Amino acid sequence: MNLFRIRNCFFATVLFSAGALAAAQGQSGPAKAVSKGKPDDQPNMEIEKFGLVLHGGAGTIERSKMTPERERDYRAGLERALMAGYEILKRGGSSLDATEAAVRVLEDDPHFNAGKGAVFTSAGTNEMDAAIMDGKTLAAGAVASLKHIKNPISLARLVMEKSGHVMMDGDGAETFARENGIELVDQKYFYTQERWEALEKIKAAEKSRTGTAGKAFIITDQDRHGTVGAVALDRNGNLAAATSTGGTTNKRPGRVGDSPVIGAGTYANNSTCAVSATGDGEYFIRATVAHDVSALMEYRGMSLKEAAQSVLDKVAKLGGTGGLIAIDRQRNMALPFNTSGMYRGYVDLNGKFVVEIYK
Ligand code: ASP
Repeated sequence: MNLFRIRNCFFATVLFSAGALAAAQGQSGPAKAVSKGKPDDQPNMEIEKFGLVLHGGAGTIERSKMTPERERDYRAGLERALMAGYEILKRGGSSLDATEAAVRVLEDDPHFNAGKGAVFTSAGTNEMDAAIMDGKTLAAGAVASLKHIKNPISLARLVMEKSGHVMMDGDGAETFARENGIELVDQKYFYTQERWEALEKIKAAEKSRTGTAGKAFIITDQDRHGTVGAVALDRNGNLAAATSTGGTTNKRPGRVGDSPVIGAGTYANNSTCAVSATGDGEYFIRATVAHDVSALMEYRGMSLKEAAQSVLDKVAKLGGTGGLIAIDRQRNMALPFNTSGMYRGYVDLNGKFVVEIYK
């Protein structure tokens, strides 16, 4: 079996054998055993029992503007996150554990707008939102406007499991984190040059619109936002969804997006699907995106793919851009987006890691 299969050119879809990836990282090849002896074109029955899909944000992601190094970094980040979740699912762990683990990896990676790589508010601070949902029990945990939590997704999980609440924000959420041994960091931890420059660019563009500066600025939605998310099906047939974000660049302090809003940016229900969204949060809240996908399946009997696409079309009609990832109990997956790209990855039926960026 080829270690790397490169279709068309370097920028095209790259399929990685999970085993090869692990070997390249100096670990034992976890997926090798699963796909051993199976011809490439035949589904592996083991893998059929669980599934994992990730996103790292949707937006204007142009091939022509991407350097090979940058693309490699994004792909490597998504592969590391796939590996973290896959390892848990493969050994029979829960979809909740897998989505949390995958999202934590992306939160620690400065390339993605969540955790370490969170964007800046108009006040030059970082404020993060996250949510996680258990499709088996419909338990959910969400956090918003966090300033010092290294891994917001783990605090969302703690809120779900220990607070007796569904959603907590700001200082109260951080006090709860401190009391329960969640890692807090100084705001300085979240500083990245690239995000700071994006804030400056947007502020300069605003000034130029109001006539106080003479320059034209091209602001892409890459400068404005991003988010990370994971959805998974585990061997026990349980679905889970997790989403984490720094929100939108130059947002007002206190602004909360769709990611932590259960039913908008995040939703999971064993009787339908698990969904994590990314895009213009204001539109995704108004279109109740994640729950709508589930509702169309439940009440209209739509397939996962139809439901996901139809909800995204609704967002587009309102004027919103973005995408979502979704998985159902039959392990069907949907990854629609209406932007030029969405960082995304999944484990295919042969146990291979598929990472894609562009349309
Ligand atoms: N949905 C996120 C928010 O509005 C941003 C994004 O996904 O790009 O906070």
